[in-house]
Amino acid sequence: MSLSILIDQSICKPTPSCNLCGGFDLLDLIDFGSHPVAKHYLAEQSGDQPTWPVKLFFCESCGLTQLVDSCPPEILYDNYVTLSSWKFQPHVQREIDLIKSLEGMGPDAKIIEIGSNDGMFLHQLSLNGYENTLGVEPAKDAYGLAVAQGVNTLQDFLSPELSRTIKAQYGLFDLFVSRQNLEHISDLRGVAESIGILVKPNGFVLIEVPNFACNLRSRDYGLWEEHVNYFTVDTLRHFLSLAGVELVHEETILFSGESICFIGRKSGKPHRSLDYVAALRRLNVEYSEHWPDFRRSLGEFLSAQKRAGRKIAVYGAGSRVFCLLNFAGVAASIDVIVDDQQEKQNKFMPGSRVPIPILPSDALYSQGIDICLLAVNTENEDKVVGKHAEWVRNGGTFWSVLPPSERLLPVWQINGESPSRG
Ligand SMILES: [Zn+2]
Repeated sequence: MSLSILIDQSICKPTPSCNLCGGFDLLDLIDFGSHPVAKHYLAEQSGDQPTWPVKLFFCESCGLTQLVDSCPPEILYDNYVTLSSWKFQPHVQREIDLIKSLEGMGPDAKIIEIGSNDGMFLHQLSLNGYENTLGVEPAKDAYGLAVAQGVNTLQDFLSPELSRTIKAQYGLFDLFVSRQNLEHISDLRGVAESIGILVKPNGFVLIEVPNFACNLRSRDYGLWEEHVNYFTVDTLRHFLSLAGVELVHEETILFSGESICFIGRKSGKPHRSLDYVAALRRLNVEYSEHWPDFRRSLGEFLSAQKRAGRKIAVYGAGSRVFCLLNFAGVAASIDVIVDDQQEKQNKFMPGSRVPIPILPSDALYSQGIDICLLAVNTENEDKVVGKHAEWVRNGGTFWSVLPPSERLLPVWQINGESPSRG
């Protein structure tokens, strides 16, 4: 092979770098294999499914756990398919009350939300007196719905260039909001620069992201190829320090697993320290080392149920469970997925060799299901179990497959006990 070919190949395949710090010292944690996009539901039970690698890394420099080189955003976010308004979000009013309590955040305050989806949060803010708002949302279906309900929104990906254009038109903002969004963005340094451009001195940021500490603690491998960043409070604080933002308040909330609600202030002099990296590395390594055992135990548990002649359903056609079933290679044990969201019904889960049908939840009765694996957010489980009390009376059993539930399958138990909530 000539030198020129070697050089060409190295140009074509650049060394992956950390989404947060840009460093190249990435530790391989778990290679989950190649999988189709979880939310690209199939209309038919056959057909080609393009796949993308899903590989988890840990940055030795800043401690961010992340996916690199996975499916490109243009494919993931063309249409979003899942809308904010579909989700039960009991913590929204809590976050708005926190905003109201911040210095200078009266009704005239200017607020920008990135990844504003169908405008649900900005609409709720308007009901609380905040009218001076702007959303930024790249997905055309979500953007269309936001505009239709009168929420001021731009259809675009956030970038420093777009931020400069927004600043020229709207001026500086009192509050920058990003809810369940930063985990999707591989250019985190671009977001930090945008916060620097858009937020006024002493202005605030409100960030909500899934808490990866919960995954580490409860051995939750229900990751999602859309989530390229897996934050803990420490890595989130480090990220915001790049934007000159310091932590003023943080709390964990029960949503989509467990999430962090972080409020920071652009003081220009944030505390910056990387002392957390060594301890976080140990937890990440333990998490990756447990994956083969977990995968085998889950497969064996489900296979034993099938051998005993039991029919198994999954409740909730969501991306986290699709990824879990595909990563662990256990989709063939599932007979049916049930979901009460009409838009998802009569489609098929992508990924498995024989795609699994998605049906309304009365299939629990009509298909004679024995075991139902709950894959709804933990805060919604009681509602689902209550709704199908008759199915339980007829002998059906609910288990959960999404931590931090208290109904988790035995394979999640550590030393004979279910993992505790944070
Ligand atoms: Zn890094």
